[in-house]
Formats: sequence, structure tokens, C-alpha cells
Amino acid sequence: MKRAAAIAFVVLASAACAAAEEPAASADPPREPATVTATAEPTSERSTATPSPTAPPAFTSKVSRVSRDRLPYSWRPGCPVHYRDLRLVTLSYWGFDGKPHTGELVVRKTVTDDIETVFKKLYDRRWPIRQMKLVDAYKADDYDSIDADNTSAFNCRRATGSSNWSNHAYGEAIDVNPLENPYVTASGGTAHRNAKKFTKRPMKGKGVINPGDRVVKTFAQVGWEWGGYWSGAKDYQHFSKGGG
Ligand SMILES: [Zn+2]
Repeated sequence: MKRAAAIAFVVLASAACAAAEEPAASADPPREPATVTATAEPTSERSTATPSPTAPPAFTSKVSRVSRDRLPYSWRPGCPVHYRDLRLVTLSYWGFDGKPHTGELVVRKTVTDDIETVFKKLYDRRWPIRQMKLVDAYKADDYDSIDADNTSAFNCRRATGSSNWSNHAYGEAIDVNPLENPYVTASGGTAHRNAKKFTKRPMKGKGVINPGDRVVKTFAQVGWEWGGYWSGAKDYQHFSKGGG
């Protein structure tokens, strides 16, 4: 043991001033393990490096018929589109927490391709969405759904400040991150206190939609127009097929 310690000391010493000393014969054996260690390290790094950069799961989406009992508050007889003509789209979205999640949207059956196309692109770009539940989770109360920053589509309701059906009642509109993208009146106000700091455009921020940005362009590619381009009141959360 003593001798080994002495050799180790010599090795350390010779390593410390390697340039000056002619290496002794006894210094060679310890070098070998050092060389072995040096070659072993990259191997072990590779073996741990291979599984570590795990890619997030690929985007998935599924379109299915929606039963009446999934829409206890958002649909009723007399709505402009029958629930049999609506579809449940279950899809991946990228969360504010930087992780993949699964959300649900109800839209008209004629626009499911549009929705899948848009949300695949947003997911692939890691564009963050707070949450995505059916508005029925808030008893179809638009105010409560917005206050919870919930992204949702179908809701059989009138347009804000109007007696006409909203495009949401046709399943052809969606509100995206409604807290970061509020409905702003012509005078610059919002009904949601927690959204007051998001009334200006353009502005930076997680999940914020700006004029001409990728989100607006992605929806435009499938023919969905942005409420942020309206004159007067602006609806920064709102996209609808063909506008309105
Ligand atoms: Zn809307």
C-alpha cells in the first residue's frame, strides 16, 4: 500500500512537471489506465447522451363524433348547427409549462381539417397555449372560460354585444389564449381585470398574438381571419372561418 502510494505520488509529481522529467519506467503503467479512462469516457457519455435528448411526442389529433352529453351547457335545441354536425377534436398542444398536453375542441365537422392543420403547426413550433377544455367545463359561461385563459371553439351563444349568433355557435370560430389576447373595446377597455396588461398591440409575451405573426398567418393559410384586424373593437383571441 505504501509503495503504491509512493508511485502515485511520483506519477502525480511527474505529471505536474512532466516537461522537466524523463518519465521513469514505473510511471508508465499508471498512464495506461489513464489512457483507458480517457477512451472510456466518451463511450459512457455516448451511452448516456443517446437517450437524453428525447424528442417530445409527435403531434397527434383525433376527430370523433360528439355526444349530446359532452355538451350539456354549450348546445341546446334551436342552435344553428345540430350537435350531430359538430365534431370533437382531441389534439396535442404545447403548454405554458414547456410540455406537451392533450386538449379538446368542438368544431363544425366541415372545419376539422383546418383545425388539425393549424394546431399541428403551432405544436411543431412549440407555440404555447395555456389550456384547452370544452367550454362546458365552465358551464358554457364565456366570461369564466376567458377568465381561466381557456382556449375553446364551439359555444351556442350570441355575438358579443349583438342579438345575432356568434360564429362560435356555428363551430367555426375559436378563441386562443383569451387572457393574453383579450377582446378590447374601441376605447381600449377589457371586461377582464386580469387581461388589462394585454390590451396593447404589438406586445411581447408568452402566448400573445400580434398582427402578422405566425399564428395569424397559420390561421390565414386555411382561411381563418383574425379578430385583431377588426376596426373599432378588437378581438385578439378570435379566429373564424371567413371572418366575423
Ligand atoms: Zn371568439
